[in-house]
Amino acid sequence: MNQNQLVKNLDEIRNTIPTSVRLVAVTKKVDVEVMKWVYEQGIKDFGENKLQEAINKQAQLQDLNDITWHFIGHLQSNKAKKAVESFAWIHSVDSLKIAQRLDFYAQQALNEKVIIKKPQVCLQVKPLPDDNKYGWTTEQLWNDLPLLQELHYLSVRGLMVILPLGLSQEETLSTFKSLKVLQEKIKDKGYFSDNFNQLSMGMSEDYLYAIEAGATMIRLGRVIFNDS
Ligand SMILES: *Cc1c(COP(=O)(O)O)cnc(C)c1O
Repeated sequence: MNQNQLVKNLDEIRNTIPTSVRLVAVTKKVDVEVMKWVYEQGIKDFGENKLQEAINKQAQLQDLNDITWHFIGHLQSNKAKKAVESFAWIHSVDSLKIAQRLDFYAQQALNEKVIIKKPQVCLQVKPLPDDNKYGWTTEQLWNDLPLLQELHYLSVRGLMVILPLGLSQEETLSTFKSLKVLQEKIKDKGYFSDNFNQLSMGMSEDYLYAIEAGATMIRLGRVIFNDS
């Protein structure tokens, strides 16, 4: 990809989003050289969905020590330990089982001072039926909240969603708004010590709707790295 194009893409995006919304640059399959250009433009939040790819890039970019790494992919149980050690944020916690494993390894990593801060996590929800996606249905999530609340080594910060393909603009906006309502309900019930204020939603195709509905973090790949 061409550096001028990247700068132009980023400028255009930043002109359309409020500064209060955290822009996570999704850099899966993007070279570290291109990631350095993104960093030079002042982006410090990088999102990856494959653990090993991310760890390799982290090693190559270790001099850029103020990057915040976000894990956004489906996590297998056997990778929970590495995920906790390598990512400040995990957006894609999608089951009670994986949450409990992350909590277990977070306790270990905190004790051994491998990490100094609790992992910040979002709970991935599936507001509409979608065979291809992981996450809690709203009903399952309400069932599991009391147990999630018991996890003391994760900082549970909010909800994350990936919408199914093919929704109309109205459906997109209304679904994002329903996520905002759900997040506020959970917060109002007093779960997670009042820290439950994040909404990780919005990708290249739908981020403006997500922001309109109250997204606090958007995860953008193609609109940043698009060459045309
Ligand atoms: C790839 C990916 C993104 C970015 O998608 P784009 O359409 O390229 O903006 C966001 N979130 C998740 C979970 C992803 O896997």
